[in-house]
Amino acid sequence: MKITFLGTGTSVGIPMIGCQCETCLSCDTRDKRLRASIVLENHGKKILVDPSIDFRQQALRERLDTLDAIFVTHCHADHVFGLDDIRPINFRSGVIGCYASETTWRELKRIFSYVFKPFSLSSLPQIFAHTIEGKFSIFGLEVTPLEVIHGRLPVTAFRFNKTALSVAYVTDCNIIPENTLEQLQNLDLLILDALRHREHPTHLTLEKSLKYIEQLRPRRALLTHMSHDLKHEVVSNELPENVALAYDGLQVNL
Ligand SMILES: [Zn+2]
Ligand SMILES: [Zn+2]
Ligand SMILES: [Zn+2]
Repeated sequence: MKITFLGTGTSVGIPMIGCQCETCLSCDTRDKRLRASIVLENHGKKILVDPSIDFRQQALRERLDTLDAIFVTHCHADHVFGLDDIRPINFRSGVIGCYASETTWRELKRIFSYVFKPFSLSSLPQIFAHTIEGKFSIFGLEVTPLEVIHGRLPVTAFRFNKTALSVAYVTDCNIIPENTLEQLQNLDLLILDALRHREHPTHLTLEKSLKYIEQLRPRRALLTHMSHDLKHEVVSNELPENVALAYDGLQVNL
């Protein structure tokens, strides 16, 4: 299994327009963060988790020209506004299965209503809508959808299991409910939201994120969806041994 971080930034992206802070002006490429998204590859099949608003740039950078499935965590602009840019991927991959919860589909179908209009002649993203209802298997992976809380919005986190290997992608949340925590045990890799140091109504602070990691004890944890408060080099020096900040372009082979 290979995971590539397409983006690791919060909704405004880093650098943030107009900001003169140390992180936004940093020359360290790890401080340049496009909007949060990963692509997970197993047996040559690629799953995109969130067609971020930066998807076009991310796909060009990673030479990503095919996809086999798209998973959507929730319908916020930073996570879904790249959906229209999958059209060139459709030229190679055909219709792509898109997996999201019922709540997420309700919003996606409203925002992207033109994609679901029958008999439209214009060039449209070709996706097949799957509503996630529970565990499912795809491309040799067992996928467990889990609910986390993002302010008031339920967000879908994903646990991916294959023989002797477990990975979870948990973005955009400030609370991980007890029953989800139970299903995030024994992970080889946990990818977790960590926005900044100061409290935020819809995201985990770095400190809260580290507390969850301490509680869940994954073998390794990578933090994502970071704001400019977290300068890569500064924060990296203060993290426990099994935790690191992810960065755009980071690849993890498992
Ligand atoms: Zn987000
Ligand atoms: Zn800044
Ligand atoms: Zn969000």
